[in-house]
Amino acid sequence: MDFIALERSVTAANYDSLPVVLREAKGVWATDTEGRRYLDMMSAYSAVSLGHGHPRILKAMMEQASKLAVTSRAYHTELLGPFLERLVQITGLDMALPMNTGAEAVETAIKAARRWGYAKKKIAQDRAEIIVANNNFHGRTTTIVGFSSDESYREGFGPFSGGFKLVPFGDAGAIEQAITGNTCAVLIEPIQGEAGIVVPPEGYLRDLRAICDRHNVLLMLDEVQSGLGRTGRWFAYQHEGIKPDGLILGKALGGGVYPVSAFVGTHEVMSVFNPGSHGSTFGGNALAARIGLEALAVIEEEHLVERSAEMGGYLQDRLRAMRSNIVKEVRGRGLWVGVEVDANVVSARTICDALLQNGVLSKDTHGTVLRFAPPLTITRDEIDWGMERIERVFARAIH
Ligand code: PMP
Repeated sequence: MDFIALERSVTAANYDSLPVVLREAKGVWATDTEGRRYLDMMSAYSAVSLGHGHPRILKAMMEQASKLAVTSRAYHTELLGPFLERLVQITGLDMALPMNTGAEAVETAIKAARRWGYAKKKIAQDRAEIIVANNNFHGRTTTIVGFSSDESYREGFGPFSGGFKLVPFGDAGAIEQAITGNTCAVLIEPIQGEAGIVVPPEGYLRDLRAICDRHNVLLMLDEVQSGLGRTGRWFAYQHEGIKPDGLILGKALGGGVYPVSAFVGTHEVMSVFNPGSHGSTFGGNALAARIGLEALAVIEEEHLVERSAEMGGYLQDRLRAMRSNIVKEVRGRGLWVGVEVDANVVSARTICDALLQNGVLSKDTHGTVLRFAPPLTITRDEIDWGMERIERVFARAIH
């Protein structure tokens, strides 16, 4: 059976997937329909940070699915409170609003920021502005792609909602200059993921915090990819000892098996919502809450944040030590690493394809950056296994 041809014949061509058909996966290893094994160094863009089929997640999921899965939020359950209570404890914020996907949680943050602006800052109706960064990626809804600086995300999908201002990423001064009396929030990824693992200069988040405080503007951080241990801290903002007013989480919150996202914020931000102002049939259902709670417990009890820092350091050291002349830069934090290649010599996609042939799953971005984001459970031996193949592929790519 040609699954790739079948898939192509019955779905829109909105992805350019790598030519592999995966059948099974456990931990950091995936197997295709031909029985070939791959080291998963992508973990579904950090959604599988706990590894595939984590036994605790599977047990919680099966138990909960057979007990009570979906009620909608027309009713209360025993699980939503405990899940969100844990989430606010870990983030240091006050309240959370559960959704399903990252983009929905971003939309939640945008709605919260605007209502806060009208209610608390007395911005004139429909004038609220949100400052965002060039090369941002926050999802695919029409509102979100409307403020993308990447024309390929927007082309043909307008008209878009207004009220967003783009500034260069990593330049706190540019944000301060862009702030007006109508600015309600700055919405930023603390490290840009889809842009190619772009780490801002040291002090950027601290400066943003100070600027937002100075001008009474909310700091909203999108940690859908960077959060929950990926960068070697629970959240990337902790590297700079600050706290946002609003935090967007997704991906790994679903334990690698289920879509679970949340917008987490201060009392003041969350106070803008009232019954009917926002919601989702599936967001915060019993199954999602149970899985989310278990995912947080696994990250904590298996010390995955510390592991990410330690193994990430090791992976980055090994990648930097390659000294290949096609590597322009190795950058990242924790187990979230981008390798920028010299696109004049080879495209990142060619390397990505070669890695696939050699049993390593990775992902190319914009033709120039190769991304690695393995499950946080990866061991030193498994990194060594992957590095042997990565070194071989890079060595061959030069000739
Ligand atoms: N925000 C960030 C920072 C992301 O990286 C992504 C997805 N890559 C999203 C939001 C959107 O998440 P989802 O695909 O679950 O809607």
